[in-house]
Amino acid sequence: MPPRLIAVAFASLTALPVHAAEPAAPATQALHCGKLFDARSGRVLGEHTVVVRDGRIAEVLPGRVKLADAESIVLSDRTCLPGWTDLHVHLGSESSPQSYSEGFRLDPVDYAYRSVGYAEKTLMAGFTSVRDLGGEVSPHLRDAVNQGLVKGPRIFAAGKSIATTGGHADPTNGYNDRLSHLIGPPGPTEGVINSLDDARQAVRQRYKEGSDVIKITATGGVLSYAKSGDAPQFTVEEVKAIVDTANDYGYKVAAHAHGTEGMKRAILGGVTSIEHGTYMTDEVMRLMKQHGTWYVPTIYAGRFVADKAKIDGYFPAVVRPKAARIGAQIQETAAKAYRNGVKIAFGTDMGVGPHGDNAREFLYMVEAGIPASVALQAATIRAAEVLGVDDQGMLEAGKRADIIAMPGDPVADIDAVLGVDFVMKDGKVYRLPRLD
Ligand SMILES: [Zn+2]
Repeated sequence: MPPRLIAVAFASLTALPVHAAEPAAPATQALHCGKLFDARSGRVLGEHTVVVRDGRIAEVLPGRVKLADAESIVLSDRTCLPGWTDLHVHLGSESSPQSYSEGFRLDPVDYAYRSVGYAEKTLMAGFTSVRDLGGEVSPHLRDAVNQGLVKGPRIFAAGKSIATTGGHADPTNGYNDRLSHLIGPPGPTEGVINSLDDARQAVRQRYKEGSDVIKITATGGVLSYAKSGDAPQFTVEEVKAIVDTANDYGYKVAAHAHGTEGMKRAILGGVTSIEHGTYMTDEVMRLMKQHGTWYVPTIYAGRFVADKAKIDGYFPAVVRPKAARIGAQIQETAAKAYRNGVKIAFGTDMGVGPHGDNAREFLYMVEAGIPASVALQAATIRAAEVLGVDDQGMLEAGKRADIIAMPGDPVADIDAVLGVDFVMKDGKVYRLPRLD
């Protein structure tokens, strides 16, 4: 039930006059934007008025148009953009030197409380949607956001990532023998598969838990307590079984991958996107273009872990060399993939770095030679394509009223993305600039 209807239902129980229980006429808002980013063309246009009604964009009119029945929101010295989407976050956690031991001390509810703040920071930074690629908290957080209990972005949740035994996302990696024997080997319910039957069961289990998208860890990973960051961890048949089963539920599959062989198997198996893609070769790029596979670079995470690897004791000894090597490579790979014409969409892997700093990825993309307009499209119109939704990522009539604004022009100067001070999601204002 939408919040307005809940309020109405409640009002009718509290002995108010009968007429007060009738829904109010829908409020109309008129956003007066000094400039407007057109996600289709990647161009910044001049002054526009965006008319919002019932959480949707009703009209986008050139110039400053006064509407008699509308509440005006003046953003005339700002650029309006469609709210951004970060396609790779983990809202249930944030890495630190304590992360490894916290796994043994914290309860799911502790992570859930933390995620409330992370979700709000992400929304306030201009990200009105995220794809959460791994973490049991995210489907629940999504529901709390949708019910208006928590301020956060619209969440497309993977729930638990799917791995193989010892792989990146095996939740028992690094446990000592006694603990491992006590708990027993994790299976498809915990997201660990070792056969085609397991693969199907793991996807069906995610369906049962309410996931919106499937995440697999096609190779080793940087932060897992295991030696290899790039070894392939599924057979191509296992990937295919996951993708085929995911298709039954209308799910897309995102594949974490650093190593070449694991990337190839994931692409041939039919995944929608490759995340990180660190050791992507020309052959892999050709395969991606042939199969229409998206690339989500997550340069932020690469730079963050490479930086932290310089600090003694920040990472466990088994993680440190992977962080130094893999982390440093991702930005270069993103540059090469862009030059080769691989389809690029926006993602940070936030939760590795601090939530709310997501927009810095734009700066890193531009630093890698990706034009600012393309980077902004990657987080708007392209991100919507990756999600498979057609009602967001553009400021056009009929789309969701997910609108952000900032002083300056981010296509002319990408640093402007760090100055978001207006955030609207589904027509609701979460952040208003202080106008003095
Ligand atoms: Zn990740």
